[in-house]
Amino acid sequence: MRTPTKVTFLGTAGGRVTTFRLVRRSGGFLVELGDKKVHVDPGPGAFVYLKEKGIDYRDIDLIVLSHIHLDHTADVNTLIEACTDGGKRRGLSLVAPRSAIEGRDRIVLPYLTSRLDRVEILEEGRSIYTDGIRIRAIMRHTHHGAETYGLEIGEGIVYLSCARYDKRMLETYPKNPRLMIINTTFYKRRPGIDHLSVEEVKELIAECRPDLTVITHFSMEMHQRDPNLVAKELNEELGLSVVAAYDGMEIELK
Ligand SMILES: [Zn+2]
Ligand SMILES: [Zn+2]
Repeated sequence: MRTPTKVTFLGTAGGRVTTFRLVRRSGGFLVELGDKKVHVDPGPGAFVYLKEKGIDYRDIDLIVLSHIHLDHTADVNTLIEACTDGGKRRGLSLVAPRSAIEGRDRIVLPYLTSRLDRVEILEEGRSIYTDGIRIRAIMRHTHHGAETYGLEIGEGIVYLSCARYDKRMLETYPKNPRLMIINTTFYKRRPGIDHLSVEEVKELIAECRPDLTVITHFSMEMHQRDPNLVAKELNEELGLSVVAAYDGMEIELK
């Protein structure tokens, strides 16, 4: 039997303008797998938007980071403090690239790591089991010099984070997943910018054929074009279920 799964999109902004002029919210998404809660990429505002959704921070079991950029991590330290009740509550783990924890660009404050039960490092192809949840680093992406991973969360919940398009994705990403969340930042291909465009997403989902695709992480170009129309276009062209995320959207998978 499949674990009942719910995904809440706290924010849907991607790129400098939509994120940092607050055209759309950020904050990543919360995945609920049965009674387990996983927060993925807690960008700016995650702390506030979780509260708005009625989530008790102390119920969160795991935080996962795809890469260090601020639109994916700005609230990670605040959440470590909130989820552990200032260090009083045990039971929070973190899964992240090594660059988020160590080295010059680390974004997790060293004094907070003692509040975490476990810290696990992502490596391409590696599966991590923590709190009864499996997190798999499907593939390391090329993304503006940041160590970035595409992830599988639980069984068949696939997150394709920010990335330059790479044909290797076609064979590396799993086929027929239950859900594929894709950071679809641009409509048109942008050579030299390490983000996915709709054209590339089209190739990918035509190959992977997810039960449901959610596009998110929109630049101004996508925002102005209306992501709902783009989702409809993909839907009609490929005969696949595609929806555009909006701030606060909740989806349930049976
Ligand atoms: Zn991003
Ligand atoms: Zn990024």
